[in-house]
Formats: sequence, C-alpha cells, structure tokens
Amino acid sequence: MADRERIVALDKRRIWHPYTDMDDYRARVDPLVIARAEGAWLEDVDGRRYLDANSSWWVAALGHNHPRLVRALVEQAERNCHSALAGMTHEPAAELAEALCAVAPEGLEHVFYSDDGSTAVEVGLKVALQYWAQNGRPERTRFVALEDAFHGETLGVTAIGGVEVFRKPFTGAVAEHLHVPSPTRAGSLDAACDALARTLAEHGRQVAAIVVEPVVQGAAGMQIYDPAYLREVRRLCDEHDVFFIADEVFTGYGRTGPMWACEHAGVVPDVLCTAKGFSGGMLPMAATLIAPRLFEGFRGGAERAFYYGHSFCGNPLGSAVGLEVLRVFEEERILERAKPKAERIARAFEALAGLPHVARSRSLGMIGALDLVGDANYLARGGWAVYDEARARGAYLRPMGNLVYVVPPLNIPDDDLDRLLGIVKESVEAVAP
Ligand SMILES: *Cc1c(COP(=O)(O)O)cnc(C)c1O
Repeated sequence: MADRERIVALDKRRIWHPYTDMDDYRARVDPLVIARAEGAWLEDVDGRRYLDANSSWWVAALGHNHPRLVRALVEQAERNCHSALAGMTHEPAAELAEALCAVAPEGLEHVFYSDDGSTAVEVGLKVALQYWAQNGRPERTRFVALEDAFHGETLGVTAIGGVEVFRKPFTGAVAEHLHVPSPTRAGSLDAACDALARTLAEHGRQVAAIVVEPVVQGAAGMQIYDPAYLREVRRLCDEHDVFFIADEVFTGYGRTGPMWACEHAGVVPDVLCTAKGFSGGMLPMAATLIAPRLFEGFRGGAERAFYYGHSFCGNPLGSAVGLEVLRVFEEERILERAKPKAERIARAFEALAGLPHVARSRSLGMIGALDLVGDANYLARGGWAVYDEARARGAYLRPMGNLVYVVPPLNIPDDDLDRLLGIVKESVEAVAP
C-alpha cells in the first residue's frame, strides 16, 4: 500500500482531530499527508507542494524549518533536551528571558515560561487572581474580556473566551465573567469605550483584570479594531486599579507590523502573553511577561509564592530556538522586510473586496482576510469551497467558516507571496455563484 493510504488509514482509525467534525472528516476529507516542510511550503508524501497560507495555524512566523532554527535545535538537543526550572536553571532559558525583556514593551521585567498560548494566558489570569487574593482585594475575582474573544483551550481561558461555538458546550462548567463588545462589534470606537467604562463603573471593584487580544481578534475571524481602544483599556485599568492582560499569542512577533500589536497604541500592559511565533512555530513553548508590581506582590513568605509550573516549563530546546528566533528577527531585519510584503497583501485583498460575493475584506501587517457573502458563523461552509480550489492550485488555505484569510510567514519570499495571493484571487473568483 502506498504511504499515503497507509497513513490515512491509521489516522482515520485512531486520531481525533482538533476542531474537526469527525464524521465529515472520515467520510469526506482527503487530508494532505505532509512529509516535509520548508519556508512557506508544505510537501506531501507524493512530492506535491503547497504554499502554507496560514503558517500552520499561525505559528511558523519565520517559515518552516528555518536553517538557523533547526541548527539551534539540533545543537541544543545534543547538549540537553530537557532539565527542569525547579531549583535549577540553564543558559538558554536565562538568555532568552533577558532577550525577550529587551524587545518587550518597556516595564515588563519578569518572564514565566509555559507550554503554549493557552497556558501563557492561564498564567496571566492566575497571577492576577492570586495577586489580589493576597494583597488585600480578594473580591477581585472577575475578568473583563471581549465578545468574540479567543484565548485558548483550557477551561480557565475558555471561561473568558467569547466565540459561541467554542464556549457553548462548557457554559455550565466555567465561571461567568464580563464580556464587552469590541469596537468592531459595538459599531464604533466610542460605543465600545462607553460599554467598557460602564462595565467597570458597575463591576470594577470585583474585576481582577481586563484581557484583550490587541488590535486583531484572530479566531473571531481576523477582526481588526482601532488601536485607540487599547489606550482606553489602559486608562480605565489605571482608573479602576485593574490589571491589563494583553494576549499577543497571535499578534506578537510582528504579525501586525510592529513587534507587538500594543505598540500600535503606545500602551504597555501589565501582563503580555506570547507563544506561536515565539518559538518560531517549531516547539510548544510560551512565555508570560509580567510587570514588577505583580511580581512584588508574591514576595514576603512561602505562602505567597506562585505555585504553578508545567513539567516542560522553560524547556531547553524551546528556549534555544526561541533565542535564535529573536536573533533572526534582528539580524535578518524581519519586521522591516515584512513591510513591503504587507503592502502586497493589502493591495491583493483590497482588489478582492470588489467581487460581488465578497462581503468585505481587510488587512493589517502580514494578515489578509475576506468574508464571503453569507453567515459569519465558524460552522459556515463557504470557505471550504475556496479551500478546495486553492488546494488544486497548490496552496493550503484553511478557512474559518466563510472567512478566507492568509497569515503567511513574515519572511515569505516575494515570489512565493505573489503566487499565494494569485491562488487566493483565482480560488475566490472560482467560487463565484
Ligand atoms: C492560538 C491562540 C491562543 C492559544 O494558543 P495555543 O498555543 O493554541 O494554546 C491564545 N490566544 C490567542 C489570541 C491565540 O490566537
């Protein structure tokens, strides 16, 4: 039996796929079977190549298998694959923490490592809750998050999530927090700021922190909002003495232009969560950057310490790669060189907005997105017709419902990018009713 059939048969027998209707998958889906990956390309077991339009779920910020990252990984693997941070340390984790703080918004001075985006946010939530619990305000137990927010998969972050289909099965089991409309949802910046101000006026004394995805709500459907909103978040946090947690898991590492999306607004959060591009998309590894006030609130006795930490916290492989990622960002001038690429994406998506079956399009940095006319629900199927067209043309263009989007590596070569944008155009045109 060919590799492909054998692998797919094993897969369909055993693997429960993420975010997947398994009946549909088993009956209808002919999955790509990837054997290799390089740069913006995925190659299947039969040698067919596909441009990876979403950087494998938004993680491969520097493309697949960047030679420098692979080298850093192999060299570290030969020395030490894993030793814990429990009463010990190691050079890659220490160097990475220093390098990360150097590129972080000024004022974030402490680094807590964990495994992925969900845990990076979970750390932020727990740090905020415990801070208040032991610093005289135990009634501060609620979070304010945006409607349509996405902060990951654990029950803790599901509670602050707002995407209806992801949250609904668990509503009985997760704490009730306060959800406010984003500027996109509220219809205007002023309306969103008013809603947030009203929520804090009413409940501010019970609020531990406001949690937001700055500027772009990714899983909500690449909803881009006015950065001025973040200044209002910062102002209201200060006014009500509430922490500001920025979930930059998707938006960090230059995805929206600057290193951090918070920079669009010139604000510094109290907690900043990073993952995905943080490890160049090579390893599950994340960090939560924390302001000194929070750190100080855990001093003064063993009972005040933060009793939290995953087995692989500060994993040396992830740390070595994460450190090399930052070096590549600097030495290969990734942010600067992404600018003209971002302009190409913007032009391509603007041009598609004119099609009658495209409801609207938008772009920011290395993100381009369009909604096909129809339902905005995650379960809508329109984007999958575009997926099939793109796949036949050599691109992996996984949609979210009727949303068709690209999130390519920041360093995608111009000719690959033009080819990808060409495939997006042809594929969207091909599904015109
Ligand atoms: C992907 C994502 C997460 C969760 O990250 P995982 O690594 O999948 O756990 C959290 N927040 C945002 C904004 C994300 O896009």
